Amino acid sequence: MRRDPARTRAALWWPVRCAGCDHDAAEPICAACARVVVRRLPATHDLEGVLVMTKYSGPIGRAVRRAKGAPDRDVGLAIAALFGRTFGSIVRGADLIVPVPSGPFRIVTRGFSLPHLLAHALSSRSGVPWAPALTARPTPRLAGMDRRARAAAVHGRHAATRAVHGRVLLVDDVVTSGATLGDAARVLRAAGAAEVWAFTACGVG
Ligand SMILES: [Zn+2]
Repeated sequence: MRRDPARTRAALWWPVRCAGCDHDAAEPICAACARVVVRRLPATHDLEGVLVMTKYSGPIGRAVRRAKGAPDRDVGLAIAALFGRTFGSIVRGADLIVPVPSGPFRIVTRGFSLPHLLAHALSSRSGVPWAPALTARPTPRLAGMDRRARAAAVHGRHAATRAVHGRVLLVDDVVTSGATLGDAARVLRAAGAAEVWAFTACGVG
């Protein structure tokens, strides 16, 4: 059988597209999209502060939607690597990193939890240990709810699986109203944390 050389080349060429900008790239997230601008959101009742790596409306937000929606673990790992590089040096000295738990149904259908990938990458970079110290019961979809409705929907959602102490760092992929982080922080304080900070890959607004 005669082989078409153009087709053979096409079969051997494995194009990678950046999950942030959709251009051809050598990595799942290209160098241009990996430039981040960290913001700090103000403290709330149980949180000392929230550090946000980038905007949800930007390329990393797009990559987060791709990682979770496709789902695409490689894109999740690329976001996690960037997250570790961004925050790894500033979290040294903390006592524990805790990922915000995804509902069990989402982990089963997706095959991975993005907050767990972020927590693992941050731990590797900083040397701060991480542990899945929280569980969460399922909640209704929060999309479309206002701040007050979200807070009511997530209140009491989290439970601690162990005692914690000192400075605890919560990790999540997206912060919207902060209701989920607030409930998780409240539970970690009740479990013994002296301070709770949150770090997220992106933030809405
Ligand atoms: Zn890009």
